[in-house]
Amino acid sequence: MTEPSAATPPERHEAGCLFCSIVTGAIPSTRVYGDESVFAFRDINPGAPTHVLIIPRTHIAGISAPEAADGAVLSALIQAATTIAAQEGVAESGYRLVWNVGPDAGQSVFHLHLHLLGGRPLAWPPG
Ligand code: 5GP
Ligand code: ZN
Repeated sequence: MTEPSAATPPERHEAGCLFCSIVTGAIPSTRVYGDESVFAFRDINPGAPTHVLIIPRTHIAGISAPEAADGAVLSALIQAATTIAAQEGVAESGYRLVWNVGPDAGQSVFHLHLHLLGGRPLAWPPG
């Protein structure tokens, strides 16, 4: 794991949070990317040939949490997504970035995460 720099605040993890357990390695995952603030791994139930979940290393409950308000975390996740898209070979063919927010969107894990889907044509609108 990348050592945090002096400017990086310490990671906070929440007991019982699935994605915090993935960040710490307590629950195994297939890592595809990591930097000082972001971790990314393959979705266990992929909806496309490439389906990566991109998360902050520190626990942030969701897109409307105060820790996400200044946009820095969201920016780091999106920058990681463009790197991962290139790494996965979908930058040219195209891909979709998705935030599921709340019950109507089917959000099931309450640790902020960005889905990156690609590797096949994706229908619009989504179901
Ligand atoms: P949400 O529905 O909250 O937007 O997305 C949660 C995602 O986490 C789902 O796509 C689901 O397949 C994935 N997921 C749930 N449990 C695990 C797990 O233990 N490991 C991995 N790699 N993905 C998981
Ligand atoms: Zn968490």
